[in-house]
This record gives sequence, structure tokens and C-alpha cells, in this order.
Amino acid sequence: MANMISGGLHGLLDERQVDTPVARVVRALSGHGAVSAAQIARTTGLARSTVSTILADLKRSSLVVEVETRSPGIGRPALAHSLNPEAGTCLGVHLGRNEIRVVLADVAHSVLADIAIPLESNYRPEKATRIAKQAIDNIYKEHSLPYSGLLGVGFAVSAPITPSGKIMRGSQLPGWQGVDLRATFEPVLQKPIFADNESNCAALAEMMWGAAAGFDNFVLFKLDLGIGGAIVANGKVLTGVAGTAGEFGHMVLDPRGDLCSCGNRGCLELYCSGMAILGVAERRLSRSLGMAEFIKIAQGGDVGFQRLLEDAAEAAGRGLATVGTIINPGLFVISGSLATAGELIMAPIRSTYARHTLVKPGDGEGANPQFVTGKFLENDNCMGAVGLVLRHHGRLS
Ligand SMILES: [Zn+2]
Repeated sequence: MANMISGGLHGLLDERQVDTPVARVVRALSGHGAVSAAQIARTTGLARSTVSTILADLKRSSLVVEVETRSPGIGRPALAHSLNPEAGTCLGVHLGRNEIRVVLADVAHSVLADIAIPLESNYRPEKATRIAKQAIDNIYKEHSLPYSGLLGVGFAVSAPITPSGKIMRGSQLPGWQGVDLRATFEPVLQKPIFADNESNCAALAEMMWGAAAGFDNFVLFKLDLGIGGAIVANGKVLTGVAGTAGEFGHMVLDPRGDLCSCGNRGCLELYCSGMAILGVAERRLSRSLGMAEFIKIAQGGDVGFQRLLEDAAEAAGRGLATVGTIINPGLFVISGSLATAGELIMAPIRSTYARHTLVKPGDGEGANPQFVTGKFLENDNCMGAVGLVLRHHGRLS
């Protein structure tokens, strides 16, 4: 049964293959998890009565199940619908600088497994393919799940990805420049391959399950060792023609500034990345230290380290003010390891943003965009890679 359903499910998820009312309902369920019939009607534009008939059919064929959801504080559970968790699974794979991480989830949006495999920092595609395949085989064996139920594999990559699935530049993944992700992984995994840049995946995760749930227009700004970002407009993650939309770290602030890894001078990344901060901190301590330790010392009251965070946040706020002036989003999600510093980083970002952006506080409706920290500070890339498959975004063909 599961095989038959997942075969059917696969076709229904691809909007280029089918655009029937049934497929639209299935895609709404896949993209949103547990939802009410009213929400499905809103998302799909179908009449309530049509949605009800379709849901009844899908339940009869065991593709959809009823679930109870409980809003916090409200006693009565509401009835929602979800894809049958047994109808299929999907995988998210993060190709990071020195690890591969794999998350397995079912089509009802439950995470079933999450494993990280540390690797040397210059691992190559051949090795990644072998390691990923092995890890995936083990996961399916361990959970006694049929590989035939796997609907697709999403890849979150530490590099810009062109729409055809090639890695544009491999500054984080040396040796991967020009690598065709579909040609690399599809022959081995034998499943549809989806891919996007890791920050775009992070934005998708925050939109589907995290800090940006319910927002169709927002900007994700990732303050990590490097700087990443993503723009979500009308519910879609913008990729751009060459896959570099949202690379805020490489906005040039000072054309005479230091040389950046991208080849330009004075990029934002040089002023607010974790790498830049740790460089100064390590010189002061005359030893190496990680971001978690750095933040702990700053939060413990070290004024010098607090100053470094403040300066980084001010640079980030100036950069974001430009982004805000251009895009005018209602929400900024600040993610990455630096976001764990809380108000030490958030307060100066907000105030610098307000000082430099076009729309000022007091300008009335929509004048104050919200700044929130991301929900998935630790595995957003991988969760977003799962989201690529569930939302059928970034399919390589
Ligand atoms: Zn740069």
C-alpha cells in the first residue's frame, strides 16, 4: 500500500506534472503539515466543498489522515488534516564545510532521524556521495523503512547554486566549483534531487516551522562564522539568476577596505562575521576560541568582547538598513551562532537599522519591522533541505 501511495504522491507533488485540484490539496498538505480544511481552501483557492470532497477521497485511499491540533491556551482541540506519515519520507542533506548532516522526515513533517558525519574540510564530491549513500542506507535500515517510500532528497549547500544545480563558487567547499549536484547524486541515490544554498534552506525552515511562520515577506540574516542571507517574497525564496540572491555578506561597505574572500574589498562580512570577531578575540587572548565560548565570556560581562559584538551588530544593522530600504520587509530573522548572544547583538542591530533605513519609527503603519532570532539556530540548513522536498522547491531536472 505504502509503495502505491508514494508512487502516486510523487507525481502529485510536482506541479509541472499535474495541476488538478487533488494535486493542489496534496501540495498544500505536503507544504504545510497539519492544516484545517479552511486553510487548505485559502491556500489552494478551491471552494470549501471541493476541498471536503477531495479530503474524503484522499482519506479513503489512506493518503490523508485526520489529526487533532491544540492551540496554546485554547481548550478544544481543532480538527486538521495531514498526509499519512506512512505515505512517504524525505531526506535533507547539508553539505557543510567539514561535515555532512542528514535529516529524515515523514510527509507529516515529523523528524525521524538527524545524524552528523564529521569530515575533513576539503572533502570531495566522490567521498560525499559515498558517505551520504551509506548514511542514508543505515538510517532506512535502522528505522525499518522502505527506501521506495523516499520521495526526494534535498541538499542544502554552503555555496551559491545555479538554477540548473551547479555549484557556482566553492569558497566554503573547495573542489566543488562547477559540480553538477544532480549528476553527482542522482545516479547513486536514484531519487529526485532538490538543492539550494544553505541560507535559502534556513529561510525555508524558518518559514515552514520557525520564527517566520505566517510571514510571506521577510529577510533572513545569518550571522555565523561567515555571513549568509535569504529573501522571501510572497512566500517564495528568491534565488536570483545565478543563485546568489540574499548574499548580504558581500555588499561592499568600503571600496578601499580589506580584501574579502570573494575578491572584492570591504564587504560587510569583513566587519560582522564570527570569523572577523574571533580573529580579534583570539589575538587578545593569545589562544584560539570557539563562538560559544566567546559569547559566554561576553555575556559574563567582558566589556571588550561586548564591544566586539556591538561593533559587529552595528555593521550588520547598517547593511540591513540598506536591505530594508530596498525590500521593505515586515520581519528580519537573525540566525546563525552569533544570534545566541541575544540582546547583546539584537539591540544594536535594531537601533542601527532604525538610524540608517528610509522608513523611521514613527512613520506609522509598518514603520517598525520586527527583529527576531531564528528558531533553528543549529540545524536550520538541514531542516530547510527537508522543506525543499516537501514544498517541491529547487527540483533539479
Ligand atoms: Zn566579499
